[in-house]
Amino acid sequence: MGAVVDYIERVISYFEQLPGIGPKSARRIVFYLLQQDKKWLKEFALQVANLKEGLLICSFCNMYSYTDPCEICADELRDSTKLLIVRSFLHRLAVENTKVHKGYYFLLEFDQHKSLQELFEDTGFKENIKLLMKRIRGLKKNIGKGEKLELIFGFGGTFNEEAVISYVKDKVSNTFGSNVVFSRFALGIQPGADIDFVDAYTLEQTYQGRQKVS
Ligand SMILES: [Zn+2]
Repeated sequence: MGAVVDYIERVISYFEQLPGIGPKSARRIVFYLLQQDKKWLKEFALQVANLKEGLLICSFCNMYSYTDPCEICADELRDSTKLLIVRSFLHRLAVENTKVHKGYYFLLEFDQHKSLQELFEDTGFKENIKLLMKRIRGLKKNIGKGEKLELIFGFGGTFNEEAVISYVKDKVSNTFGSNVVFSRFALGIQPGADIDFVDAYTLEQTYQGRQKVS
């Protein structure tokens, strides 16, 4: 008897580690799983176990992929004059689903709650900035002379997002001068606006209504 309870408690403790799942929800999920048939449970576990099997990080856009370059970065028909910076892989999925963005993407992940000093001194962040500069250089080669590259910040309007926009804009301007122009999602104009929970319609609107960052 004791062993069964221990095992169930152990499974519950895994669910408790997931974001947004408290002890009560973890229990509810595990009791739900106990009611499912074995075949479904095995399939579920297998999918979770294989989630990172063969997974790479695309060396162009910094995102999860099974190939390097990823499907999007390898697609030469996309618009080389537009690079959309997102801070979450999920944001790319959401934007891509709307089909509103024809250009490329870049993932610049950063902690929304870190102090700015911690954020900008983070080695991972510095590496990502280097990769971003490399990506911009690569895209510029595909762009005709006289054409400009538009760097779009697909962010909301939180304090750290504001700071990252200024930081990246300064860095990129210092290296590429006026050959790169900057814009941001319209939503980000509202201080504190959160991009995490917007629906597809709002996402499309905020992309199309994007504002110049000067
Ligand atoms: Zn890629």
